[in-house]
Amino acid sequence: MQLIFMGPPGAGKGTQAQLLAALWKIPHISTGDILRACVVAKTDLGQKAQSYMDRGELVPDELLMDIVQERMNQPDARAGWILDGFPRTVAQAAFFDKLLCDVEGSTSGKDCALRAVNLDVPDNVLVARLLSRGRQDDNEETIRRRLQVYREQTEPLIDFYSGRQQLVAVDGDRAMELVTAELQQVLSGDS
Ligand code: AMP
Repeated sequence: MQLIFMGPPGAGKGTQAQLLAALWKIPHISTGDILRACVVAKTDLGQKAQSYMDRGELVPDELLMDIVQERMNQPDARAGWILDGFPRTVAQAAFFDKLLCDVEGSTSGKDCALRAVNLDVPDNVLVARLLSRGRQDDNEETIRRRLQVYREQTEPLIDFYSGRQQLVAVDGDRAMELVTAELQQVLSGDS
């Protein structure tokens, strides 16, 4: 299983990624979680990332690449993984293709067993969900900015993966258990 979970903030990708990773016994790798841990630990990276995160902006690509590379090279990532919140830009996706090729010895990201899952949820539902979550970066102004950043910088990845027949699109505007059940069915063939 090599899965990328995409979708706007509040689509439920973190929740679904965590559930399915536990079920399939593969690591759930969330770049948002890694960055938040760096902020709490006040590492160099955390200090650089914090102001971007607080404003709802993306942390610069070059700060993400090292942490993803390091995490993907850990032994538990050999059997598969669910990436949650990465890649989020076309540059990150291109970097990630190269990284996968290095790790797997394939020559093109198109050859990888990778699938990109997009959870579709309308904006009004997203805003309501995020406001009720109450994370530090979940105030109304930041939420609006994160949605805008998603549309501008991350949504183009849907075409990127769809063009390579690697996209799986699922309606995320339903009860959590229904979304999990559909993902399980589509991704592993379980019914
Ligand atoms: P998330 O928990 O995925 O919503 O991420 C929270 C915040 O961390 C985002 O709003 C960004 O500021 C930052 N972040 C997480 N992943 C990335 C990424 N792949 N590229 C840039 N910034 C990221």
